[in-house]
Amino acid sequence: MERVRDVRELPKAHLHLHFTGSMRPTTLLELADKYGVRLPPALTGGEPPQLRATDERGWFRFQRLYDMARSCLREPEDIQRLVREAAEEDLRDGSGWLEIQVDPTSYAPRLGGLIPALEIILDAVESASRDTGLGIRVLIAANRMKHPLDARTLARLAVRYADRGIVGFGLSNDERRGFARDFDRAFAIARDGGLLAAPHGGELSGPASVRDCLDDLHAGRVGHGVRAAEDPRLLKRLAERGVTCEVCPASNVALGVYEKPEDVPLRTLYDAGVPMALGADDPLLFGSRLAAQYEIARKHHAFADDDLAELARQSVRGSAAPVDVQRKLLSGIEEWLSG
Ligand SMILES: [Zn+2]
Repeated sequence: MERVRDVRELPKAHLHLHFTGSMRPTTLLELADKYGVRLPPALTGGEPPQLRATDERGWFRFQRLYDMARSCLREPEDIQRLVREAAEEDLRDGSGWLEIQVDPTSYAPRLGGLIPALEIILDAVESASRDTGLGIRVLIAANRMKHPLDARTLARLAVRYADRGIVGFGLSNDERRGFARDFDRAFAIARDGGLLAAPHGGELSGPASVRDCLDDLHAGRVGHGVRAAEDPRLLKRLAERGVTCEVCPASNVALGVYEKPEDVPLRTLYDAGVPMALGADDPLLFGSRLAAQYEIARKHHAFADDDLAELARQSVRGSAAPVDVQRKLLSGIEEWLSG
């Protein structure tokens, strides 16, 4: 019998991970205890909560849990701990490069304002990277539920702090609200400042939302993008332009975008030549981390080891990692495959 290679040993880049959502469940319990926050059973049960985000109430519930978890991050040392542990978990799962996304606005009230919050976050990323050896960069993500002017402010801030480890600009939260084009100015500022445009699209909404990301925001990468599978012409366009989709299978199932892991259209995207970077999205709420996403591809979509290696290559090529880091990861992938 052929030896089964361990996907945790497959070098890869992790391009879709949210800040609070990266927290270890045990850390959340400790922080809640520290601040006397009473968590709802959905966050203390040990089992990931049941969420159906395909209706607005379900999405609202997901956001409420997220806000509750975020409210337990109150001091710079909590932020330091969060990022260090996220890095440790990523390394354990074979990540050789992490791009973590954060909206500093939502941490500002507890950390002394927007700029101090951003400084604290960037400091935490820098020291976690130094302490663990994992290359970590930041995407600043604007919130789609807020005013587009807020997004512009954030984009300017992201550009100003680009030399402190910010590589991209994103847009998150409910795709069904408003239009991507409302945020076109913010994205223009980010792109002009040399940042990668990586908005969420094609998760809760269909292929049109992915097209909007391309047409209106000139996305270089798309958060999720899986619903592009419903439109062959769009798949072709993503493949031709080499726009990487940050596909998060466990998240899609947890939020009810797809019923079962085998329904996530990994094969459709892969066979159409759309580059993918598998990601964990919010492991705190969805119960699985990076390597588990590759396990889903193997177990539910019959990805053989050379397909898994190709997925890992795609994640590396889609990353903002410097050339030398990419080269090292790519050769590690070949070693994994030939081992
Ligand atoms: Zn996301």
